Amino acid sequence: KETQVMLTDFIANASHELKTPLTSFIGFIETIENDQNLTSDQKEFIKIMKNQSERMKKLTSDLLILTTAHASTSKDNFEALDITLLLESAINSVHATATDKKINYKTEIEPNLPKIIGNKDEVIRVIENLLSNAFKYSFDNGEVLVKIFVTNNSKHLFKKFDDNKNLLCLSIIDKGEGIDETLIPRLTERFFRVDKARSRKVGGSGLGLSIVKQILDNHNAQLQIKSKLGEGSSFNVFFEAA
Ligand code: ADP
Repeated sequence: KETQVMLTDFIANASHELKTPLTSFIGFIETIENDQNLTSDQKEFIKIMKNQSERMKKLTSDLLILTTAHASTSKDNFEALDITLLLESAINSVHATATDKKINYKTEIEPNLPKIIGNKDEVIRVIENLLSNAFKYSFDNGEVLVKIFVTNNSKHLFKKFDDNKNLLCLSIIDKGEGIDETLIPRLTERFFRVDKARSRKVGGSGLGLSIVKQILDNHNAQLQIKSKLGEGSSFNVFFEAA
């Protein structure tokens, strides 16, 4: 346990220490990128520097989030949550990617949904990660559908759920490139990416789904991934209704 605490502290401190120089890099890059006297080569180099620094910033911040989620088993900040409001908040933070790629996204939300019990910020983070993946790995002009509904059809698949409680399912469906079925069990491993170059290009860290899994484990919730290469994917999250 002591080693685990040391490791968590080390990663937390390292990511925190890296944040300051990175913020400074990015600030200065943004100052010089607008210089009218830059040659086209210089403009290109600065663009690469900016992308790579942003990537590094995302990596350090995701590492910190993952470590914190891993270390937190307490239910101190748990409260009754309206998942529809959390979805709205997540959409607000990631919709820019959808707009850039002209992705048409729709929501289908069942009325009178029960609440779930959880940590608000963590559940928002789960939805943000899954939504931003659906947008990142969709083609331009693609379609993404988000559904929230009560279901008990999948309960028998997972032993962790209480027989007497309903399940609430958040389902994020895209028609992107899909994932080879044999790789699905590996997606929640840290730094696992199906196509490293593609993930880097779209600003991925390879940590998003491990963060999702860790947070859902803390919530006694379950991630189910279904995908077909060339057809698209659906990422379903099951929470016990309060
Ligand atoms: P990343 O930061 O690389 O997106 P994630 O942990 O969120 O990392 O996802 C791991 C990998 O799973 C991604 O690199 C990508 O290959 C694959 N992936 C995740 N979501 C999708 C999706 N909706 N469609 C296709 N591939 C996906």
